[in-house]
Amino acid sequence: MLNIGCHLSAAKGFQAMGKDALQIGANTFQFFTRNPRGSKAKEIDPRDVEALLQLRAENNFAILLAHAPYTLNACSADRNIRKFAAETMVDDLKRMEYLPGNLYNFHPGSHGGQGPEMGIKQIASMLNTILRPDQTTTVLLETMAGKGTEVGRCFEELKQIIDGVTLKDKIGVCLDTCHVYDAGYDIVNKLNEVLDEFNRVIGLDRLYAIHLNDSINPIGSHKDRHEQIGEGFIGLEAIVRIINHSKLRHLPFYLETPNDLPGYEREIRMLRAAFQ
Ligand code: FE
Ligand code: FE
Ligand code: ZN
Repeated sequence: MLNIGCHLSAAKGFQAMGKDALQIGANTFQFFTRNPRGSKAKEIDPRDVEALLQLRAENNFAILLAHAPYTLNACSADRNIRKFAAETMVDDLKRMEYLPGNLYNFHPGSHGGQGPEMGIKQIASMLNTILRPDQTTTVLLETMAGKGTEVGRCFEELKQIIDGVTLKDKIGVCLDTCHVYDAGYDIVNKLNEVLDEFNRVIGLDRLYAIHLNDSINPIGSHKDRHEQIGEGFIGLEAIVRIINHSKLRHLPFYLETPNDLPGYEREIRMLRAAFQ
């Protein structure tokens, strides 16, 4: 069975996201923990969360994925911005315990000219201040396209962050197909080689989730512009190989393609039909 969902708006609450997911044929979903630009989080309504947990159990949902605001920057040169990133994540992880045992993904950050070594050090040290031995959430570093001064543009940078983290069992990776393609990894013609490299550098046991996106731009463009499945440079055939790959097919896949709900429903139907 293919575990697939898409990014959903959290505006109407947790139960509403579960219902939206079911309506479009998904059995999981991704959501922002708060406004993606990083403002104050909405108060959690325990009854709303409880309703989602029940719906999830009744319908056998796969693991859920929360996404941190993408404006958080754990490796800004400005210490106040780093402090804000840490405080926001502490609060997010506290709130995630209402939905125990799920995933929380974040963009490692942009070093802003400090250099990747400094960025990697700051990201790892932030994680060491916020991760708790008793948390039930696994925190995921997202593979980045390498636009601007993004950290996480190659598997080695993610590995170095993980190496700096003490509570390693709380940390993993979310692979974004558009991002790795834009970063220069040829998942269209050399998927096996790319996965072997991921395994050699990071270890496939650290891979918890896939952001399934096509890309508007060619390989190595460092742009990070998502396209609908089959409409971009990655293409449908390569994406079908990805969801069916023996080393990936057990993972949860989350669409972040430019779509409304009917568009996501079409992509999910198409991908389920292509899953063998
Ligand atoms: Fe992301
Ligand atoms: Fe992504
Ligand atoms: Zn992206």
